Amino acid sequence: MQPSGNLHIGNYLGALKNWVRIQHDYDCIFCIVDLHAVTLYQDPAGLRGKIREIAALYLAAGIDPKTCAIMVQSAVPAHAELAWMLTCVTPVGWLERMTQYKMKAAKQESVGDGILQYPVLMAADILLYQAGIVPVGEDQAQHLELTRDIAQRFNSLYGDTFVVPDTSLPAVGARIMGLDDPTQKMSKSTTGAGHAVALLDPPEKIRKTIMRATTDSNPAVDFAGAGPGVLNLIAIYQAFSGASDDEIKRRFTGMRYGDLKKQVAEMVIAHFDPFQQRYRQIVSEPGYLDGVLREGAERVAPIANETVRLVKERMGLYVA
Ligand code: AMP
Repeated sequence: MQPSGNLHIGNYLGALKNWVRIQHDYDCIFCIVDLHAVTLYQDPAGLRGKIREIAALYLAAGIDPKTCAIMVQSAVPAHAELAWMLTCVTPVGWLERMTQYKMKAAKQESVGDGILQYPVLMAADILLYQAGIVPVGEDQAQHLELTRDIAQRFNSLYGDTFVVPDTSLPAVGARIMGLDDPTQKMSKSTTGAGHAVALLDPPEKIRKTIMRATTDSNPAVDFAGAGPGVLNLIAIYQAFSGASDDEIKRRFTGMRYGDLKKQVAEMVIAHFDPFQQRYRQIVSEPGYLDGVLREGAERVAPIANETVRLVKERMGLYVA
């Protein structure tokens, strides 16, 4: 996750909730990607605070730091080092084709090089640890394909070096849409009041945002003719509740939109009540977060450094 903006239920359902579910099935590394965040200007004090906030949110969601490493990208310099080496095997055309690059670049008068290089740094985050599986939301699927292409290109130029990773998307909740405009992905960088539910929003605010969500001109849920706003609300309910498609159909068919929104709002509020209590507890323990992040970086650095050493050797760079 990038420590920019407020984490929202799209980040939670697309990524964080699934990380908690799989954390005991794999050796997991969960990174807070501050180097990615600065591809757009961040207020320095705000960024420092956000890094800690995201670490606390990972822990509040249930990531267990005894089993998994939680670390900050810039604390392991090998991320930036490998990114440069990967940049050198990546055609600019591959990067210019990325949808997120095109969208971000369209909003800027002068486009920073970091926005173009963003997916190469992401490839480094993944390939550095020889990751087999990367659990992300659907918006990152294209960057994951690029990571695979970069790994394969490197392997074919310099010999087998990188594991080519697979993408893992959640069955429900891989793409949560904006509550104000269900044709747009829910995004941290969109700031409108009715756009997103943030993980630390108080219950009243969650209720208000969901009750105001855009639906369509029908009065009640009809699955055959439902618009994207209604399907988005139902997807949010299903992802939080874990209900099957049949249960969801039975529960919501014919329900008036006001009642649908109430049920979604109460489900989200109930889920985040204990979560937010854990968050407050975590941030109130002096030194705890820094300890988790220090330990996480210390655990993963040897893996990252070994990959950089191997890549240098393969490329003929100087290895002391
Ligand atoms: P980011 O917001 O770029 O830091 O993304 C962090 C994680 O959340 C990535 O795995 C994204 O794929 C995921 N994500 C971001 N927005 C959404 C969304 N609207 N729906 C589902 N997953 C999302």
